[in-house]
Amino acid sequence: MEQKICKRCLIRELGEENYHKMIGQYIEIFDKSERASDELTENRLSICRECDKLNAGTCLACGCYVEIRAAIRKTRCPYKKW
Ligand code: SF4
Repeated sequence: MEQKICKRCLIRELGEENYHKMIGQYIEIFDKSERASDELTENRLSICRECDKLNAGTCLACGCYVEIRAAIRKTRCPYKKW
């Protein structure tokens, strides 16, 4: 039976598998036309990986989950790195 993700859970309570599932569900909320291509997403994330603001998947500059931000076409890095 599939485990439901609780809206009231903290991320630390989700476990790694559910964390990845949650990221995927957030991205799926957006229409495909609003999503960045896989190539663009990966290019953005490679920049985040080199950035000192990256902290366990979140951006210390804005508090977002970078994997969600990077996957949405119109979003921008708060420091204009991408
Ligand atoms: S979104 Fe920008 S500031 Fe945040 S981690 Fe990525 S590159 Fe760094």
